Amino acid sequence: MWARILGSAAGGGFPQWNCSCRNCDGARTGRLPVRARTQAALAVSGDRRGWFLVNATPDIGAHLARLAEPAAAAGGGSAGGEARGSTAGGEIRRSPVRAVLLTDAELDHTAGLLSLREGDGLTVYATAAVFRAAAPLLAILGAYQPVLRRVLEPGVDTPLDGYLSVRALPTGSTKLPRYAAHLPADPAGVVGYVFTGRGGAVLVYLPCVPELTPDLVTELEAADCALVDGTCWTDDEMALVGRPEKTSRSMGHAPVTGPGGTLPVLAGLATPRRIYTHLNNTNPLLVEDSAARRAVEAAGVEVAHDGMEFAL
Ligand SMILES: [Zn+2]
Ligand SMILES: [Zn+2]
Repeated sequence: MWARILGSAAGGGFPQWNCSCRNCDGARTGRLPVRARTQAALAVSGDRRGWFLVNATPDIGAHLARLAEPAAAAGGGSAGGEARGSTAGGEIRRSPVRAVLLTDAELDHTAGLLSLREGDGLTVYATAAVFRAAAPLLAILGAYQPVLRRVLEPGVDTPLDGYLSVRALPTGSTKLPRYAAHLPADPAGVVGYVFTGRGGAVLVYLPCVPELTPDLVTELEAADCALVDGTCWTDDEMALVGRPEKTSRSMGHAPVTGPGGTLPVLAGLATPRRIYTHLNNTNPLLVEDSAARRAVEAAGVEVAHDGMEFAL
């Protein structure tokens, strides 16, 4: 199984277009040692030719470009060449995306679906609750191409292709996107995913989690690689950008440090790779030489960046 981190920032990306916090300004001026990051998405593959995308962000154009490169080099076909008209059964049209899986219906995870409208059909995997919330977007997409909805039952391992299977993991969050706030709260409205490769390797992707419960910790512990919500360093971090009413937890994200912080939990796990992703632009972890970064690395935990790839 291969995994590629296509984007590693929370909603808005880093730097965020309308933000001039210390981190965002430092990124623009080059005065801080930081990497720019697109909004969080992951690609997983069992053959490195077709990829399962977890979340379709507004940055999906850059994400698809990243996926297309090695496929074109390895395939040797017409991909990447000049358009020569459509040939039935040929490779003039081809996509590196086998399907999209959604963890929730938030726009930073779903708006990119609309940019896939040129396709000849798209398979989307999600829980029934996420499909319900994302219905307006999927209805628009469905006017341009057939959308094949594959409903995932939480806790049930489901084969994706001959190489991979996936299981949706409820996170305890029932947060709904603002555009779907009228819907009833559902425990399967925000999930993580457990991918299992043919050889038994396990990858957990958990970009939005309000609390690392004992059940979730058991899942992380059984994984070879755990990608975990690193949105905010502290619960009150949004005060840095004048939004003290928006705590990390109120946005559905357990902070890295402070009461209920995820770092002490991750530090104690034997999971070979533990990686923070979905970082908000306010997070001091973004700064490569920060005390925050040093503390996380000393605990054996990594910080994701765009383009990070690993084989499991
Ligand atoms: Zn997000
Ligand atoms: Zn900022």
